[in-house]
Amino acid sequence: MISVIGAGPAGSFYASREKHDEVHLFEEHKFVGKPVACTGILTDSVRSIIDVPQDLIISKIERFKIVSPNGKAIYIDLKKTNMVLDRARFDQFLFQKAVDAGAKIHLGEAFVSYKKEGTSYQLKTTKKTYTTSMIVGADGPFSPVAKAANMYGKREFVHGWQARCKYPGLEEGVTEIHLNLGEFSWVVPEDDKVARVGVIGPNTEQLKIDYKKLLGKAKILEDQSGPIPLYNPKQQLRKGKEDIFLLGDAATQVKATTYGGIIYGLLAGSYLAEDKEQYVSRFNGKLGKDLWISLKMRELMNHMSEQQCNELIEVFKKKHNAEILETHDRDFPSKFMVQLLMKEAKLWKIGFDIFKSNLGGRKK
Ligand SMILES: Cc1cc2nc3c(=O)[nH]c(=O)nc-3n(C[C@H](O)[C@H](O)[C@H](O)COP(=O)(O)OP(=O)(O)OC[C@H]3O[C@@H](n4cnc5c(N)ncnc54)[C@H](O)[C@@H]3O)c2cc1C
Repeated sequence: MISVIGAGPAGSFYASREKHDEVHLFEEHKFVGKPVACTGILTDSVRSIIDVPQDLIISKIERFKIVSPNGKAIYIDLKKTNMVLDRARFDQFLFQKAVDAGAKIHLGEAFVSYKKEGTSYQLKTTKKTYTTSMIVGADGPFSPVAKAANMYGKREFVHGWQARCKYPGLEEGVTEIHLNLGEFSWVVPEDDKVARVGVIGPNTEQLKIDYKKLLGKAKILEDQSGPIPLYNPKQQLRKGKEDIFLLGDAATQVKATTYGGIIYGLLAGSYLAEDKEQYVSRFNGKLGKDLWISLKMRELMNHMSEQQCNELIEVFKKKHNAEILETHDRDFPSKFMVQLLMKEAKLWKIGFDIFKSNLGGRKK
């Protein structure tokens, strides 16, 4: 028996792909997909992993408007549109795939602890104790499995304050990103009246102030806030040679530039299902570089002064630089960062200035 803890995207997708004949999926909530704490943006690269049914897509992003602290904006017209999901129904869709693949479902049953016994584990939940041969922790940012297995490490978090709200002046298809509130902030329209509006950063009083500023006169329909783990390159994905694994947010598999984690969680789930022995080397080999670059980009961005943010916006006003962002998938920065740095000497200067004025430490 394989025990998967957590029916979020990572756990359900893994359970749907795992070929073992007895897969059990445990979810502490009675319903899958709620509460929602996500904007639900996916880049087009999700299509290489799974077909997302049209009816789960609430809206599309054709254009990003990125606003600098001095109010100047650039527009990035995406060559391939991004999708904005109904996140609750997306989770239910993946969960149904696990059900269809034969996974045994335990809703409203939470993982509590485990004990190793010979080559298997005694898995204790809020309802029963099971003998299991493998445990997969896909149980989110505060992963109880990671804690129980001593794999939690020194993880750091940011907080996403987000609400679904009635928001005045929306332009369908255009997502606004503001660089001067939190690490960044966003207004993502569902249609011309309702948007998902949020800020992200370490959970401080300043972040709450920034959030209030962004919300302005918006009318909140639903709070969708939640914690996000910062990618930790030293995070253990497997407990030594034992059959205890971590996936998704539980394994800090989130890119630190925009804090998207769904695609990485799905990819991790598919690698683990294909070959558990190769999971760690495959994940780190294929995606570690992108996650690491995202982390370094985030560190640089967090140290930028308002003046440097304004300069960066000027750099991307140039057509040939904007085109790189329009064409490439931001989930995989290793595919375009070199190209960008080769074409734009100004970026080296901005990077060097940030480094010089902020040696060491996380600023925000
Ligand atoms: C405000 C905000 C906006 C975001 N926007 C985006 C976005 O636009 N795009 C994107 O890609 N990502 C986004 N993210 C990140 C994304 O939501 C996560 O990366 C993603 O949900 C991770 O999926 P997961 O399956 O690893 O974990 P989760 O979705 O957290 O699922 C973990 C599951 O485990 C269950 N669980 C926890 N403990 C136990 C237990 N003891 N026993 C049993 N079950 C348990 C939980 O109930 C949950 O269902 C956003 C996050 C936030 C907070």
